[in-house]
Amino acid sequence: MENIININEINNLLTINISEEEVNIILKKAKQLKGLTLKESSGLLSIKNPKLLKELYDAAFFVKKSIYGKRIVMFVPLYISNICANKCLYCGFALNNNFITKKKLTVYEIKNQVKLLLKRGHKRILMVASEMISSDENINYYIEAIKTIYSTEYNNNKIKRVNVNVAPMARKDFKKLKDANIGTYQVFQETYHKQTYEKLHIYGPKSDYNNRLNAIDNSFVAGIDDFGIGVLLGLYKYNFEIIAMLMHIKYLEKKYNVGPHTISIPRVKPAFGSIYASNPEYPVTDEELKKIVAILRLSVPYTGIILSTRETSNLRDILIKLGVSQISVESKVMPGGYNDEDTMNSDKLEGQFNLNDQRSLNEMVKSLLLNGFIPSFCTACYRTKRTGKFFMDLVKRGEMKRMCNINALITLKEFLDDFADDIDVKQLGYKIIEVEKKMLNDVDFNLISEIFCKISNKIRDKYI
Ligand code: SAM
Repeated sequence: MENIININEINNLLTINISEEEVNIILKKAKQLKGLTLKESSGLLSIKNPKLLKELYDAAFFVKKSIYGKRIVMFVPLYISNICANKCLYCGFALNNNFITKKKLTVYEIKNQVKLLLKRGHKRILMVASEMISSDENINYYIEAIKTIYSTEYNNNKIKRVNVNVAPMARKDFKKLKDANIGTYQVFQETYHKQTYEKLHIYGPKSDYNNRLNAIDNSFVAGIDDFGIGVLLGLYKYNFEIIAMLMHIKYLEKKYNVGPHTISIPRVKPAFGSIYASNPEYPVTDEELKKIVAILRLSVPYTGIILSTRETSNLRDILIKLGVSQISVESKVMPGGYNDEDTMNSDKLEGQFNLNDQRSLNEMVKSLLLNGFIPSFCTACYRTKRTGKFFMDLVKRGEMKRMCNINALITLKEFLDDFADDIDVKQLGYKIIEVEKKMLNDVDFNLISEIFCKISNKIRDKYI
């Protein structure tokens, strides 16, 4: 653990307090899109003055626009199981929690869930599973589920990218996950503070802090170069967690020359059957979450930041401007949650935790468009093997922004043609596509015009 997380160094960094002049120097450097040192990120965490916070947010918005342009990638989580061998005090899936219905979807049920998501226009799934005691049972089930998701068809549509959020596993099993063609392997450390980790993960394979911390190393060695990390905010002091997570990133970058593809920043939400989740020890306020997103955006400018529907629609709209680049939409956090219109629209709490943004995909697309963003269903990078170091180098050279922009417009047009069920969304979307097209250079204008022609002739799944 010591070579990844150095507690003494973190504690020293957290004593840093910086002057207004130092803040300005750091923000100026951040705007050059070169990222920040741990010392600089810690300095920004000490900002309290509202005027300086505003400058921090402006800088984050600048960096966000410079690297990602206007596109926001959307995905939907698919929970396939909640029968869990772990007892994590904050989680609704905990082994001893009998307040929720526990189940593991069959292949047939997974297929049905995927069809319902395809029918709505989704292209990207984040497959989420609980952890059972037998590692063979785990990996065999994950692989079967991934194959099922990729092979399910509805009206000539298929899911194009399956990211997975599942427990750490042995390298030989990570290799199988890689061979199953996953997009990103995602695992959250939950808390980098070992004593807190051990206090909250009281039973089961997940109670091994080091096994969790080494998960990304093991997945990388097994060939997965596209990985996502995160912390569950509320378990320990957020300042500590952010610096520890950045330290983890620096370690990975140094060792493998690749950083995480994404960072997730979930906050603990109330969960059925968990007393702890309704009253976490270190709750993070909305203002603190804004600061966290902005500092992460400046510290690791090339890493995607993921925001889930745990947060309210109002706050999500704000955080998207501060640096979030990927969002989940229409989420249900119980296996089988997408079954019918009733469950899609319900506030049923029987999931892993409570959700606060219930906007439909159409409503989310509309909201993004109205806020000046381009909703994107693009899955091109992973399909053209633009992952890991290759991806990071493209982003750093500024080449990704162009491709992301064009692919976002292509996938938006396909969505509007095939799935938008609201005339306002269609009109607004087509209008914005026209405006965006006019801003392209001649070569890209011609390229996209040709692709749009094909889309009008019912040819689908185009990307550059
Ligand atoms: N079995 C997988 C693993 O070990 O990572 C998946 C765990 S869980 C299904 C996915 C994530 O949900 C967890 O990593 C945790 O961060 C988050 N989570 C759990 N309980 C939560 C709660 N009460 N509120 C918000 N997020 C929660």
